[in-house]
Amino acid sequence: MKVTVVGAGVVGTMHAWQAVERGHEVVQIEREAEARGASLRNFGQIWVSGRAGGEELETALRARELWEEIGGRVSGLGFRANGSLTPVRGDLELAVAEAAVAREDSAARGYKLLTLAEARALNPALRGEFTAALYCERDAAVEPRTAQLALRAELLKSPNYTFLPGREVREVIGAGTVRDDHGEVHHADAVVLCTGAWLGGLVRELAGPGLPVRRVRLQMMQTDPLGEPLTTSVADADSFRYYPAYASTALDELNARQPQTPTARDHRMQLLMVQRADGGLTIGDTHEYEHPFAFDTLEDPYEHLNEVVESLLGRPLPRIRRRWAGVYAQCTDPARVVHRQQVGDGVWLVTGPGGRGMTCSPAIAEQTAQQLGW
Ligand SMILES: Cc1cc2nc3c(=O)[nH]c(=O)nc-3n(C[C@H](O)[C@H](O)[C@H](O)COP(=O)(O)OP(=O)(O)OC[C@H]3O[C@@H](n4cnc5c(N)ncnc54)[C@H](O)[C@@H]3O)c2cc1C
Repeated sequence: MKVTVVGAGVVGTMHAWQAVERGHEVVQIEREAEARGASLRNFGQIWVSGRAGGEELETALRARELWEEIGGRVSGLGFRANGSLTPVRGDLELAVAEAAVAREDSAARGYKLLTLAEARALNPALRGEFTAALYCERDAAVEPRTAQLALRAELLKSPNYTFLPGREVREVIGAGTVRDDHGEVHHADAVVLCTGAWLGGLVRELAGPGLPVRRVRLQMMQTDPLGEPLTTSVADADSFRYYPAYASTALDELNARQPQTPTARDHRMQLLMVQRADGGLTIGDTHEYEHPFAFDTLEDPYEHLNEVVESLLGRPLPRIRRRWAGVYAQCTDPARVVHRQQVGDGVWLVTGPGGRGMTCSPAIAEQTAQQLGW
């Protein structure tokens, strides 16, 4: 069987991976010399903790299993089962963490409520002020800036895999057949469009104007090396307000009685932080939904993140080395993990995994493979 994958972000690369694993002949086509979209710009969090119960959690847990398996083969992914801590302060935040631990799927996530001393024993870099922490043992991380390169190097070991960078797929001209902007035609039994947040052009022509997917823009930064290990990923209690796993009456109380600071509220912010292989910290994020998106990055959210991180680490943040923004595509129905749609004869579109795309992509690709009978 022949498969054409369009897009070399994590969703496309995982589809190529699944197809090659099943012995199929794969051509992966990428518009840029290398992918430059959300898949490089993210935290690299394999984030189980905040997922909605049911299908979303099951997908994330299966994906984490696959990441670990693939990470065992591809050391350049930097897969590590580092877990995460969400430090809490005061009774209102503590109650949300307690409600999370009381969930019936709590054990599957590896939730545990830790005392201050236990949290510091697990992650000694957290010398700031807090009273307890929610631990999620199943959270993990990979290195997003190099993950696609490492996966591709492994894929290229197979004679069945070809990577064609610097080509934009412009048109579907027949069953399983696409034309690129070099005028070359690619025939396959299945074409999977993993074109991320590029919802115009080819995707709009094929899927029509009513695609149930929207675009979201986030601001991020990365510091110089911290000079010590940050042994777990870290979130702040504002993350409780955004992830479905934390919905509870305790969260309603928190929102009503202790709203976010104006900057955090205006930019729909939470803190997520993970240490990179070089020791630097990737820190974010904001959420922008209204178009047109800003073309530049704003300082206020960075100042807020600086304060939050310094209050948790109990020390000044190292110099900020990089700032950037990224855009992902998210299903407008929050209950849907991904938008998978047949958009032509032998042509499927897979997009919209939102802020969980890095986490879920291996399982999303596995589901596509199963649905398409690869
Ligand atoms: C700042 C930020 C932080 C995030 N953090 C996390 C996180 O920690 N954990 C998590 O699970 N998720 C996270 N996400 C979400 C995750 O990064 C995305 O869901 C995921 O990367 C989407 O992957 P993709 O392959 O669909 O898209 P992309 O990575 O954008 O890849 C799509 C590719 O398709 C190519 N392309 C488009 N059209 C064509 C065409 N016609 N022909 C050829 N090539 C084409 C593009 O050039 C691009 O390289 C984050 C996202 C952002 C923006």
